Amino acid sequence: MTRPSRHVVLTGVIVLVSILWYVMWVVTGLGSVAVGYVFMPLATGVAVFAARALRRETPQDPIGRRFWRALEIGCLLVTVGFAFLAGAAVLSAPILPDMPLAGAVFAGSGLLTAIWAVARVPLGVQSRQERIRQWLDRTIAFLGCVAVLWHFGLLPMVTSGEQWTPAGLIILILAFAFAAGAVTKVSYIVGGPVDRIAVRAVASMGLAVGANALLDGKYGYNGILPGQTLFLPMVALTVSVAAYRQRRAAARPPRRRANVWLPYLAVLAVDVPLADVLFRPPGADGIPEGRIVVLTAAAVTGLVLARQFLVNRDNVRLLREREASEARLQYEATHDALTGLGNRVLFKQRLENVLADGPATVLLVDLDDFNTVNDSLGHDVGDELLIAFADTLRIATGDDGEPARLAGDEFAVLVTTPGQDRAVAERIMTAIAAPISAHRLLVHASAGIASAPAGTPASHLLRDADAAMYTAKQRGKANWVRYAAGMEKPAQAHAQLGGDLRRALDAGEFKLVYQPIVHLRTGRVVGVEALVRWFHPERGMVSPIDFIPAAERTGLIVPLGRWVLRETCRQAAEWLAEFGPDVLEKAAPNVSVRQLHDPDFVDDVRAALADSGLPAGRLVLELTESAVLRGHQVLRVLHEVHDMGVRLALDDFGTGESSLSLLRAFPAAIVKLDKSFVDNIELDEQGSAPANARQAVARAVAQLADALGLDTVAEGIENQEQADRLLKLGYTVGQGYHLGRPVTAAELTARLAAQQHSLPAAA
Ligand code: C2E
Ligand code: CA
Ligand code: CA
Repeated sequence: MTRPSRHVVLTGVIVLVSILWYVMWVVTGLGSVAVGYVFMPLATGVAVFAARALRRETPQDPIGRRFWRALEIGCLLVTVGFAFLAGAAVLSAPILPDMPLAGAVFAGSGLLTAIWAVARVPLGVQSRQERIRQWLDRTIAFLGCVAVLWHFGLLPMVTSGEQWTPAGLIILILAFAFAAGAVTKVSYIVGGPVDRIAVRAVASMGLAVGANALLDGKYGYNGILPGQTLFLPMVALTVSVAAYRQRRAAARPPRRRANVWLPYLAVLAVDVPLADVLFRPPGADGIPEGRIVVLTAAAVTGLVLARQFLVNRDNVRLLREREASEARLQYEATHDALTGLGNRVLFKQRLENVLADGPATVLLVDLDDFNTVNDSLGHDVGDELLIAFADTLRIATGDDGEPARLAGDEFAVLVTTPGQDRAVAERIMTAIAAPISAHRLLVHASAGIASAPAGTPASHLLRDADAAMYTAKQRGKANWVRYAAGMEKPAQAHAQLGGDLRRALDAGEFKLVYQPIVHLRTGRVVGVEALVRWFHPERGMVSPIDFIPAAERTGLIVPLGRWVLRETCRQAAEWLAEFGPDVLEKAAPNVSVRQLHDPDFVDDVRAALADSGLPAGRLVLELTESAVLRGHQVLRVLHEVHDMGVRLALDDFGTGESSLSLLRAFPAAIVKLDKSFVDNIELDEQGSAPANARQAVARAVAQLADALGLDTVAEGIENQEQADRLLKLGYTVGQGYHLGRPVTAAELTARLAAQQHSLPAAA
């Protein structure tokens, strides 16, 4: 049994004995009347210890501590006050005593302390409106309580003709105030540091005192003794019970809802004395005092009106807020947050509406190479570009249609002016001929136009427009195409491809082939480039030209590229183990820019090296210029890989917008001269202008690389003349069908073995 419950039992016993004693005294008349006055201070004395034990033994936050300390002091003061009364009773027995002034002061300040304690318990109210409403509610409840207590309790008592000492009267009034205030307050405590049941138990203390007063008033002098023995000790019991509740409350979460019915109850409560005043036969005492009840009732009515007004205003506000938020939700559900254009949902709705009544024309616009912008310049720049493009689209569309953003970089216009589809498309193309967005980006877009008669499903029309747009992209982008029958076939095949890739990766349909990178003078294989192939179960071998773009668009290039990287490292380590360090210097997989944006890329490279055991210096990553161009994040990744000892090669060098500054910022070790400069390079040395230009570029690249300390590889060598010419221009290493086609690992193993035998002492 916990200690507070021991206090509860003890106070309970005192209360019981007190009642028994009173019954015995009434029946037998034996013993001194003074005994009846001893129970109250005894019981409140125990309550002091109950409060103290709780405070000492149960950890509480400051507010809880303050409450229980105040209560402890209040009980102590009450105990002392009633001890004075008991003393007076002993002295005056058998005549009943009056409360001595000192006793009244102690008991009165004890009650005040208790009032203060309850008053300071926080309510946990948040908003201003709520606080105001609660004050109104509490005032209403308070007035209700006061009206009842006054009319049926205090008033008869004061007017009963009994001789009340001022001290007794003060205690009585305090007890009333305490009761009314506490009841109205505790109804609003929803939880917090002081247990709500505990506060209620304490508040009921006021009720006990009030009941006592009622008894006194009703029975006059005869009621005093039963009050002392039957009711007052219960005051102490409530405190003990409260302390017990508080201890147990520590383990339980608080309830959340405040009282809502109390004000209504209070309004009803005022009606009772009101009715009493109305129907009491007009007598000497009834009418003048009735004024107070009537006034209270009027005040309550006014307060209820005010409260109703506030609640109404709140409701109106809430309603308005809800309407606004519904409108906002509706807007958000149908609009794109970034550009403010309608979204796919809205567009489809609108399209369906139009198609229900007549024909419709749709223009689908897709930014070309938007992912490259996003990847190389960052998502913020990408977002700004989309916003700028949306504005462009709005202006270009004008009153001839409704633009929308369907997804990512995919936009649409529902053309509403018949015959204006072509004009809209051309206005869009013209508008983006100049750079747009704050970053002055030059973008291209491909568009597809499709029309359909009334009753066509919206999805069919969109599919046609999509096929037309895909065709526009196939025809070299930056253009628009009107849908014609049959256009959907390649688009479908393309869409299917994306889905197929994932399955293919899981099914292990990808294989690597290796193209030798060869020393031009000796013909020795110095390295290999790893090239991926897809062995499709139905379509046979698929070229990377056909699926790498799809893999990049769908993001599948990340897992695919990771596999290529690991497989290349594994194979290269195997060759290293088989042929020793002098045979194959490097193995080079291709890496897409999307992979460089993958946060795991650096870790992937490290793991591929660690797991295969391939030294970092034997791995070369081939990157295209456009991939490494710009983008701080990409540069940081490349530097990290470079710091690992891995070499980086600039692929297709000379085709992009490469610059000297790029070569300096980018930790490249190798440049690969693009095949387009090698094609026809062997042709007539004097006459052909293009051939001369190619030679000039090839020579410049070789000299530049030499100056910067970079190695070179000439790509796409298809005959010996080209090899000779490149040698003359300063290239020592080359790659091409003439030097070796991409072959399987086994075939390359055979070539390496043959080379090892024929050139045993290769330099
Ligand atoms: P690339 O990196 O420029 O690779 C060289 C391409 O030129 C290869 O085509 C190769 O077979 C071809 N080639 C080599 N020598 C000659 C020649 O003398 N004449 C002609 N006409 N072609 C020659 P492939 O294997 O079809 O690869 C095409 C492109 O696909 C590659 O261009 C590369 O950008 C990409 N790619 C291939 N494998 C991967 C990969 O694993 N990951 C990534 N991200 N891209 C890859
Ligand atoms: Ca390459
Ligand atoms: Ca290349």
